[in-house]
Amino acid sequence: MKVAYNIPEFREARRKLNGSLGFVPTMGYLHEGHLELVRRARAENKNTAVSIFINPTQFGPREDLAAYPRDPDRDLSRLREEKVDLVLMPDAAEMYPPGYGTWVNVEGVTERLEGAARPGHFRGVATVVAKLFNIVEPTRAYFGEKDAQQLIVIKKMAADLDMGVQVITVPTVREFDGLAMSSRNVYLDLEERESALVLHKALTLARNLHSKGERNADVIRKEMTALIQEEPRAKIDYVSIADASTLDELSSIDRPAVVSLAVKIGKTRLIDNITLAG
Ligand code: AMP
Repeated sequence: MKVAYNIPEFREARRKLNGSLGFVPTMGYLHEGHLELVRRARAENKNTAVSIFINPTQFGPREDLAAYPRDPDRDLSRLREEKVDLVLMPDAAEMYPPGYGTWVNVEGVTERLEGAARPGHFRGVATVVAKLFNIVEPTRAYFGEKDAQQLIVIKKMAADLDMGVQVITVPTVREFDGLAMSSRNVYLDLEERESALVLHKALTLARNLHSKGERNADVIRKEMTALIQEEPRAKIDYVSIADASTLDELSSIDRPAVVSLAVKIGKTRLIDNITLAG
């Protein structure tokens, strides 16, 4: 496994590869969710590349950039075990040198949900992913369904800008009890970890109501909200039932829908989602 700490080093190693390249962009502190993306990339491509970069431009000024967990040595040993070929670990000064001034803004879908709660977040995400695609030149890039809106944004950017990269969706990997794996779960203390289950419980409630035939999105949103409000450590940011391709809120679930939520557990903001067939 070649670890490149800067862009020229990565490009030189990339030039020597033959055949397809599967790429997994991450912010590190790797868990089984990330590794599932890596395994898919490896199964479907001749070569596999992973980036580890905590992208400052996708964090708001009051968010957790400084506290974001990191453990590069452990990450690299996990990637070695997965037989990854190439790792890119650039520093922020190389990705955003003084005078940096080009941004990718995806319109429409970025204005809702995570985009509304975290102004500028998707501008940072789209920009760094565009830069990484230009550096890595992957055949396919793998993203987790855990960040459903991010996937829609990346797919739209890649299509709109003719990037020629196939964007592949990988289902959410969960802990034994249903909590979606996230690097941010490390912020939770024992009691908060218990409370954090309320996200999965609310999504399961939505799935059950839907499978019993409930199609009124307001009814499902209200039931989910009531369930989360019973948990004293939880504070709802949003509960959404939206069209799976546009993320427009639905009043009736008459087409594929994403049920998504953002909830603060203590100081930790968690997101999760499921898709309903319609
Ligand atoms: P991050 O390091 O949080 O930026 O995530 C890097 C990639 O891993 C993104 O495409 C995420 O959607 C994906 N990912 C994060 N958590 C999970 C999970 N629990 N299951 C599947 N994919 C995930």
